[in-house]
Amino acid sequence: MKNFITDIIDKGLESGRYDGKVCTRFPPEPNGYLHIGHAKSICLNFSLAAQYKGLCSLRFDDTNPSKEELEYVKSIEADVKWLGFDWGGRLFYASDYFGKLYEFAVKLIEKEKAYVCDLNPEQIREYRGTLTTPGRESPYRDRSREENLDLFKRMKKGEFEDGARVLRAKIDMAHKNIVMRDPTIYRIKREHHHRTGNKWCIYPMYDFAHCLSDSIERITYSICTLEFENNRPLYNWILDALEVYHPQQIEFARLNLSYTILSKRKLIELVKEKHVSGWDDPRMPTISGLKRRGYTAGSIRNFAAGIGVSKVNSSIDIVVLENSLREELNRNAHRVMVVLKPLKVTITNYPKGKEEVLDAINNPEDKSAGTRKVPFSRTLYIEQDDFKEDPPKKFFRLTPGREVRLRYAYFIKCEEVIKDPEGSVVELKCSYDPATHGGDAPDGRKVKATLHWVSAPHALKAEARLYDHLFLKPDPDDAEKGKDYKSNLNPASLKVIYPVYAEPSLKGAKPGNSYQFERQGYFCVDKDSSHTRLVFNRTVPLRDSWAKISKKP
Ligand code: ATP
Ligand code: MG
Repeated sequence: MKNFITDIIDKGLESGRYDGKVCTRFPPEPNGYLHIGHAKSICLNFSLAAQYKGLCSLRFDDTNPSKEELEYVKSIEADVKWLGFDWGGRLFYASDYFGKLYEFAVKLIEKEKAYVCDLNPEQIREYRGTLTTPGRESPYRDRSREENLDLFKRMKKGEFEDGARVLRAKIDMAHKNIVMRDPTIYRIKREHHHRTGNKWCIYPMYDFAHCLSDSIERITYSICTLEFENNRPLYNWILDALEVYHPQQIEFARLNLSYTILSKRKLIELVKEKHVSGWDDPRMPTISGLKRRGYTAGSIRNFAAGIGVSKVNSSIDIVVLENSLREELNRNAHRVMVVLKPLKVTITNYPKGKEEVLDAINNPEDKSAGTRKVPFSRTLYIEQDDFKEDPPKKFFRLTPGREVRLRYAYFIKCEEVIKDPEGSVVELKCSYDPATHGGDAPDGRKVKATLHWVSAPHALKAEARLYDHLFLKPDPDDAEKGKDYKSNLNPASLKVIYPVYAEPSLKGAKPGNSYQFERQGYFCVDKDSSHTRLVFNRTVPLRDSWAKISKKP
């Protein structure tokens, strides 16, 4: 990997900075499930560490007690592991540093670089000024060191109400960067914390806890997204003021994906309001959703490596992610035949009661995947879309009087069309040519189409879940006035079809197994599958049939 971040690291190594060490971290706040944007950050941090033979830790940035839950911690650990990364015992919690952070705050007060302020939140806001006007100094700014030490100690002891006082860094109320105008670094908040319980009633603010956690862990490069660029001066100020180990913060552009929401707050909303079935709904951009949809860890890692890192925000077409997956599944997924919208075909000249097994290739991209047996009989299913009574010009599939190939089987010819009283086609009577066994004519005659099919008496009934984008617009936040991203939810993002007819080799397929349904797309077995009902998620359609299939069933 080579990019502007490795350039910075290389330069640092040349000058002997950090004793030639590279140490990164992935620091999620455990207030939701990880999504594909986080995956980009995980891949970046762990890959950099690997590339430079350094270390990467997983740190839960759990300084905000009200939102954090154990469920999220567990899911984050599982997702990072599933992506293929190992923190090698370097699993940390910012909350483990609460004691040290308190000591650092005391030290800042001793250095007269922090003070206890009694202004209420509105007043603090008002005193802060704006982008164009400087702020005003708090009337409590010049409290003595002793008074500050005493008040801060009493804040910790719980002598004051929530919000009654805060500890602020003493920087510069006229600073052109608002972040630097005496930011709050500790607040009083009586809230149960998932790890420290009720031990603390004061909690450090993100900006204070983050840089010091990085410092405590001897992180060399603290890589974060662009929105933290404004906070970098504060990051540096705190570390300089305390004269501690000083990691370098480097910002990169966060991942945005078309047709996709990557904001935890909104993803939580989608789950809580039941617009999706849960965090791992296969339409969700969460790592658990992508996994359930049939995405592989390798395809996500390749995607992250392929898009690279940059300093400018942009949006990546979701097709790039899908193609990364197709590339892998094309190499690895076994091909099977499954008919999604069945049309019955009777082969009139095939003996009643006869059946035979034919050889089918598991993966033309991988000879070592071998072959399997597929049963053939007199009654079959083909796709409704593969037949047209009145074909348009470029339709090469089955029509009355025309011959096509059934994959791995025979040439068949449509002799008669059976309709119900409403005029819909319900069955085709076809003839087959026994000389074309295996799918080739000895006389060299050609057909223009090869159809997939399933033998009706042998078919497994299964459920197929066809997914489309969760949102209708490339930018889901682009909503009409007065409406929000939810007005762009795609009402047709999930279509369930039952039954679809699958070849019997799929019996016993296990959740997570991926297949290419010939001519239909990649599918995987869903966790809702049971031995009485197989359930398949459509992971992605085949490249060339995307437009066609997504409009249809
Ligand atoms: P949100 O803004 O959706 O609430 P967050 O960025 O606050 O999410 P964190 O748990 O703080 O979520 O993120 C952990 C790490 O993942 C951070 O370093 C953050 O910069 C990074 N990250 C989050 N979203 C993206 C994204 N879309 N692309 C790249 N990195 C991201
Ligand atoms: Mg964050």
